[in-house]
Amino acid sequence: METKLVEYTEGRTRLLVPEKSLTSNVPPMEPAFFNPRGIENRDISMIVYETFCGRAGKSLQFLDILCGIGARGVRVAKETSIERVYLNDINSNAIEIAKKNAEINDVKEKCVFSNDYAEHFLASIRREGEYIDIIDVDPFGTPAPYLEDTVKAVKKNGMISLTATDTPVLCGIHPNTALRKYYGRSLRTEYCHEIGLRLLYSALAFAAARYDRGIKPVFSHSTRHYLRVYAIIEDGAEEGDKSLEEIGYIGHCSICHEREVLRQNFGECRRCGRRLDVAGPLWIGKIFEKDFIKEMEETARKLGYRRYLKMINLAYDEADGPVSYYLVSELCDRLQVSMPATEKVIEKIREKGYFASRTILNSKGIRTNAPSETIEDILLKLAKI
Ligand SMILES: [Zn+2]
Repeated sequence: METKLVEYTEGRTRLLVPEKSLTSNVPPMEPAFFNPRGIENRDISMIVYETFCGRAGKSLQFLDILCGIGARGVRVAKETSIERVYLNDINSNAIEIAKKNAEINDVKEKCVFSNDYAEHFLASIRREGEYIDIIDVDPFGTPAPYLEDTVKAVKKNGMISLTATDTPVLCGIHPNTALRKYYGRSLRTEYCHEIGLRLLYSALAFAAARYDRGIKPVFSHSTRHYLRVYAIIEDGAEEGDKSLEEIGYIGHCSICHEREVLRQNFGECRRCGRRLDVAGPLWIGKIFEKDFIKEMEETARKLGYRRYLKMINLAYDEADGPVSYYLVSELCDRLQVSMPATEKVIEKIREKGYFASRTILNSKGIRTNAPSETIEDILLKLAKI
């Protein structure tokens, strides 16, 4: 294999990466895939995994089932207290580079490499009876085809993390594709990233329920390019039942921006009577665990990832908030008024006794349970000042 590799640093880890992955707009698949823009995704995963280790209070195992050149897996071995890291990829070039990366970071002893299909490797884990504490699925596109095998291979009270890059599917551009991949329809709204995350969680909950397991989301985030979820997998038919109780629908009125959590796939707009557009079935339970996020804050300080503290603190504030958020800009457009400062709007909503916070899912979003009329009223009053 003649691949020009260049050295690249991410977090505290040195990585050898294909030169073209740093110079091309779209990183090439050959000889092996590496996306430098995934740094934030990987940084945050170090914080989440280390937090999970702290909570477990014992040494854990981690599996990167589609590891590529080992950017995440080798970083986990180097930067967290996880004891053993399994790295698997069907691309043999990628595995060769991943081995070199483990070597130059002095973590080869901690790493186990495999050059196999993800499904085969997950099946072999089960055959050996060596279930894994944390399994990461970071594919090109949708993680949906891997969900069942992953659920079956993760340890009791273990963690599954998923990346989805099929954002147009999950965020409402292709609702029928979302139905096929995730068993729920997506919907184009100002909070479509949240709908996408909720579809990911419901698909995982459906897969887990088949094996008498339940899910407990702890942290979620997204950008325009991907969505990312972290869930703890709990054992027992009862846990499975509990998770399925958290599956429902979101109804949305595109005229009034009203939204409502529904138990059935239809509803009328409370404000204008129009039939609601409906997303789902999807996860309507919590997508953040407040205590876990508090622990993430400590971990971020400990690992030296202070630049993520702002995001973590925002997530803490919104963790117990309602489903969905509003974009002030969209409401101001509808009302044809100028846009006030987001903080000011939040303050006014809180004064009226409603929940209101920012959201990490959109820098201009306000997570609130205030009715759309109330927010509009506030915007109109602020515009007059
Ligand atoms: Zn309406």
